[in-house]
Amino acid sequence: GEFTESADLVVIGGGPGGYVAAIRAAQLGRQVTLVERGQLGGICLNVGCIPSKALITVADEVERSRTAASRGIAISEPTVRMEGVQRFKTSVVERLTSGVAELLKANGVTVIQAEARFVDPAHIRVVSEYESKKIAFESAIVATGSRPNTLSMLPVDQETVLDSTGLLALQRVPEHLVVVGGGYIGLELGTAFRKFGSRVTVVEALPTLLSGMSPSLVRVVERRLRELGVEVMVSTRVVKAEIAPGNVQLTVEGTEAARLQSEAVLVTVGRTPNTDSLNLEDAHIARDERGLVIVDQTLKTQNPRVAAIGDIVPGPMLAHKASYEGKVAAESLSGLPSAADATAVPAVIFTDPEMASVGMTEEQAREAGYQPLTGRFSFAANGRALSLDEPAGFAEVVADQDSGILLGLHAVGREASNLIAEGGLALEMGATLEDVALTIHAHPTLPEVWMEAAEVALGRPIHVA
Ligand code: FAD
Repeated sequence: GEFTESADLVVIGGGPGGYVAAIRAAQLGRQVTLVERGQLGGICLNVGCIPSKALITVADEVERSRTAASRGIAISEPTVRMEGVQRFKTSVVERLTSGVAELLKANGVTVIQAEARFVDPAHIRVVSEYESKKIAFESAIVATGSRPNTLSMLPVDQETVLDSTGLLALQRVPEHLVVVGGGYIGLELGTAFRKFGSRVTVVEALPTLLSGMSPSLVRVVERRLRELGVEVMVSTRVVKAEIAPGNVQLTVEGTEAARLQSEAVLVTVGRTPNTDSLNLEDAHIARDERGLVIVDQTLKTQNPRVAAIGDIVPGPMLAHKASYEGKVAAESLSGLPSAADATAVPAVIFTDPEMASVGMTEEQAREAGYQPLTGRFSFAANGRALSLDEPAGFAEVVADQDSGILLGLHAVGREASNLIAEGGLALEMGATLEDVALTIHAHPTLPEVWMEAAEVALGRPIHVA
């Protein structure tokens, strides 16, 4: 028969889940082989988190230059040259992905550029342009990530009808961009292109944007979208699409019926886990009805040699959650008593302003049987937010009334993505309202909003009339 190679621990997928798992397993003395069919760094580094944040940074600079006069700077309307923006984006991506390759090498991880699928509970087959081989493994970690959902009416050609990957690579600023789907990816990218100069219309089937995020946070972002001139249509569906190169006519129905003509359409209607072409059944790995791999707290699948992590297992589809799970999976498959705990996984959205959340909302705390105590503090009363000319937003803490132990922290406002780090640490440490209120926060800084919100909850705020 065919010669079979053997490997100690194989990782399938080199995204933020897989590459982190590979490095942790190597640290633990495992001989690691990582199989990646595309680019190291996965979606996040190549066509997700990182390139989108590079574009958003530039878009924010453009937008701030438009309001510069109110801060005493005379500046003319900026001109956006997308080739230059794309060069900046690509340089950031390349620097990070080559860094991942170096880290894997330094940790002795063997990288195979190929597509992997299971043969049986203890073997995978890897297939590339050059070879097809069978590998026997002791342990395996599946980290194959997700791909964008599609709409049959709007087939993606990456020229006129784009998914996030196509929009991130766009070399032009469309005059009118229609965003189908008002989730975080659609709003982050739609806002950026609005700032680059496109007219932007967001069409969302559900009654609210960013469903799943706390409505009080979403309202702040909605207000800003209106200020920026982004047109938002909620409870509205696309019922017909006529597509010619560079020209799409959409018929939408719902709260309002309309015809929208645009040069480009971005389709962002959720993501599907890449679990359908791995032959998981023959490896005795079960999935749920959404296609997500079923795992226990140690992230092992129903096949005890195999763990699964990241976008293909339940929980938020976020890079830091994938990386965290990667460490846990490498440890649990290597005999360490490691288990995943979702309590302190932050969610971050890079809209304008940013939103971030960790732990429970007030309603979730009540549903979980707590008597929640909350405190909210507005950015408009924070000196640093005002001196940055960014007064929109607030921070909110949710705690258990009896013990004062924090249950959740939520923020919408400038730098919310960075602010939530303190919230994550607070939850991880089991901090109380007093702990946050007694922590001396440097002045004037944005994180003071947490101290003030905790003092509001404790009934002794200094800066609230
Ligand atoms: P992925 O990053 O998807 O990596 C999976 C890898 O597996 C891919 O490289 C793929 O080529 C490979 N692969 C798949 N099947 C096989 C196979 N059979 N054989 C070999 N290789 C295979 N998250 C955040 O936390 N913050 C953000 O700001 C953020 N912004 C985003 C913006 C956009 C536009 C998008 C699309 C996503 C964003 N995300 C963000 C989500 C984030 O990218 C994902 O949650 C994260 O990449 C998941 O990591 P992963 O390792 O599970 O999978």
